[in-house]
Amino acid sequence: MNSSSYVGRFAPTPSGYLHFGSLVAALASYLDARAAGGQWLMRMEDLDPPREVPGAQAAILHTLETYGFEWDGPCVRQSERHAAYAQVLQRWFSQGLAYACTCSRKQLEPFGGIYPGTCRNLGHVPEGAAIRVRVPEVEYRFTDRVQGEYRQHLGRESGDFVIRRRDGLYAYQLAVVIDDAWQGINHIVRGADLLDSTPRQLYLQELLGIAQPRYLHVPLITQPDGHKLGKSYRSPPLPADQATPLLLRALRALGQNPDPQLRYATPEELLKWGVQHWNAEAIARVPSLPEAGID
Ligand code: GLU
Ligand code: ZN
Repeated sequence: MNSSSYVGRFAPTPSGYLHFGSLVAALASYLDARAAGGQWLMRMEDLDPPREVPGAQAAILHTLETYGFEWDGPCVRQSERHAAYAQVLQRWFSQGLAYACTCSRKQLEPFGGIYPGTCRNLGHVPEGAAIRVRVPEVEYRFTDRVQGEYRQHLGRESGDFVIRRRDGLYAYQLAVVIDDAWQGINHIVRGADLLDSTPRQLYLQELLGIAQPRYLHVPLITQPDGHKLGKSYRSPPLPADQATPLLLRALRALGQNPDPQLRYATPEELLKWGVQHWNAEAIARVPSLPEAGID
C-alpha cells in the first residue's frame, strides 16, 4: 500500500471530557497515521444531545491542542450529517432491508440483547418506532492488526440491530460507517470496547458497497476496580499542565518505550518522538474480549 494514502481519524463522543483512556486511543490513532505519513482527521460524534455534557466538545478539542495534537482539516460534526443518515435509512427501509420495531425495552429484556425478530414482518410505520436493519445468518470476520482474528455470527450474536432510535436519534453503528466512508477513512484505530461492534459495521459497509478499512483495537484502560474508564464514569478533564507526564504514561500504556529524558520534553517533542519510534506491534492484546459494546 502507498503509505501516503493512509487516512485515519479520532472520533470522540462529547458525553464527557477527554479522559486518560480516550487520550490513549487518540494517541494510538495519531501516531499510527503520522508514522505512515498519513492524514489524521477529527470527527465529533455528537449524535445524542441529551447525553452531551455542555462544553465538552470545545473542551475535548482544546485538551487535544494543549497536548500537542494537530488534525487535518476542520472537525466534522455528526449533528450536521443527519441528511446523509436519513437518505441511507430511507433507502434501506423502502428496499425492505430495514424495518420499524415497536418492541418495548421490557418486551426485549428476556432476550439478553439479541433481538428475536418480533417485528420483522409486521410492516409497522416508521413514525415513533425504532428502525432496525435485517441481518443475515452469516458470520462476519476480520483480522485486527493487533488483536488477530475476530468473528461474530450476526444472526445469533446480535440479531437485527437499531440504526435509528425510537426517539428519532441515529445510532452510532449507522453514523460511524457512513461518515468513515464519506471522510475516506481507511485505517481505524480505536478502543477495544468497539471490537464487538465491528462485525455489524462490516455488514453495513457491505450493504453500502464500501471497502473495508483496516482495524486496530487498543486495549482499554481500566480503573483499579476493573471498570472501564469513560462514559459511565464522570471522569474529570485531563489537566492542561500534565500533558507531558500523561502523554508519557499513554505511550507506555501502548507498549512504547519512551526515553526517561523525555520527561523534560514539550508535548510536541514527545509526539514527534512517538511518531519516529512508533511500533504498533508492541500494543498489547486484550486479555479477554469485552462482554458488550455500545449500541
Ligand atoms: N465515538 C466513539 C467513542 O467515543 C468512537 C467511535 C469509533 O472510534 O468508532 O467511543
Ligand atoms: Zn420489535
